[in-house]
Amino acid sequence: MQQTKRILVTGGAGFLGSFLCERLLREKHEVICVDNFFTGRRSNISHLLDNRSFEIIRHDITFPLYVEVDEIYNLACPASPVHYQFDPVQTTKTSVHGAINMLGLAKRVGAKILQASTSEVYGDPEIHPQQESYLGRVNPIGPRSCYDEGKRCAETLFFDYWRQHKLQIKVARIFNTYGPRMRPDDGRVISNFIVQALQNKPITVYGSGQQTRSFCYVDDLIDGLMRLMGTQDEVTGPINLGNPAEFTMLELANLVVELTGSRSATKYLPLPADDPRQRQPDIAVAARELDWTPKVQLRAGLGKTIAYFEDLLSSDRSLAIAAE
Ligand code: NAD
Ligand code: UDP
Ligand code: UDP
Repeated sequence: MQQTKRILVTGGAGFLGSFLCERLLREKHEVICVDNFFTGRRSNISHLLDNRSFEIIRHDITFPLYVEVDEIYNLACPASPVHYQFDPVQTTKTSVHGAINMLGLAKRVGAKILQASTSEVYGDPEIHPQQESYLGRVNPIGPRSCYDEGKRCAETLFFDYWRQHKLQIKVARIFNTYGPRMRPDDGRVISNFIVQALQNKPITVYGSGQQTRSFCYVDDLIDGLMRLMGTQDEVTGPINLGNPAEFTMLELANLVVELTGSRSATKYLPLPADDPRQRQPDIAVAARELDWTPKVQLRAGLGKTIAYFEDLLSSDRSLAIAAE
């Protein structure tokens, strides 16, 4: 039987964090969820509150935190460009000061710590698909830099704590992940397109719509994160986690319209600054080290996500969520 651990999930009330808390509780661990509710929502975790192994702390990780845990998943950070650009200084603080505090905590209690890094460390990439050895092409002074450079610096801190203090670290580079519990006002492409399609409003395609992304369904991603945490000490990453199936934004728009049976037209809006033109993970390392490959194809994952938004939009809950 596997041993019960006490596990800290920062950003645990967010989209990915709430699924991770749920999975860890299902595996009989004790979970401490820390969140400042910037983009996270109480409703994402309300169903977990009755579980005696679940605890929630409202806290901003840019400030020190003293708890006793065996493992830390550091997910706290807004992930949607709309939200991370709302207060860019706080975004960098969350990635950098937040990483220092969580690494300091891991060092004090001897915990294993996993960082939710991102494909954004590759920037607008010159090589395709992106392998972990690619060093990236990131603008240090643009509107996306608070997130991209913050996450790059967090990786630096993780590897310096590993070299200097012998911490057990795990760094996951997560590629675009989607699923239920994304906010209707999240601003990322999948939630935008689905909400627009369900309301028969124009689908907002930025630029020509020829830019590509590769979308991973949330269940697959959580499985990858937990496998990475479970690896031997010598496995530090960085390891790409994502679904290699690559689509243009126009292909995605057409698929969402088809699956929702929407009457929406397409509306072209300007491409945001520094928007990467293409993105596709090379997941050979994850396949080898974690025996992990994503199982859920885009069509199936979109079906589940559409069902979630259909339910949300047909109830009063979307208004309640917007007010949360
Ligand atoms: P999300 O915005 O839904 O979740 C982030 C959570 O962190 C929210 O609950 C938010 O309230 C919380 N948070 C933000 N700043 C905080 C702070 N200073 N202190 C405490 N809590 C704070 O986003 P998500 O999609 O669930 O992303 C989770 C993590 O995964 C993020 O670190 C993100 O960068 C990373 N990631 C996500 C994706 C993706 O496609 N979903 C891709 C790459 C990386
Ligand atoms: N820290 C924390 N919780 C702990 C231990 C440390 O939040 O349980 C913070 C602490 O505020 C410190 C940071 O983590 O600023 C880095 O800790 P570290 O021990 O690496 O460095 P130092 O304490 O020397 O600054
Ligand atoms: N995008 C779009 N319409 C939208 C939202 C996003 O065409 O309503 C595009 C965006 O320009 C980018 C891609 O979809 O090229 C993915 O954007 P998202 O914000 O989801 O993630 P990221 O850019 O961080 O990969």
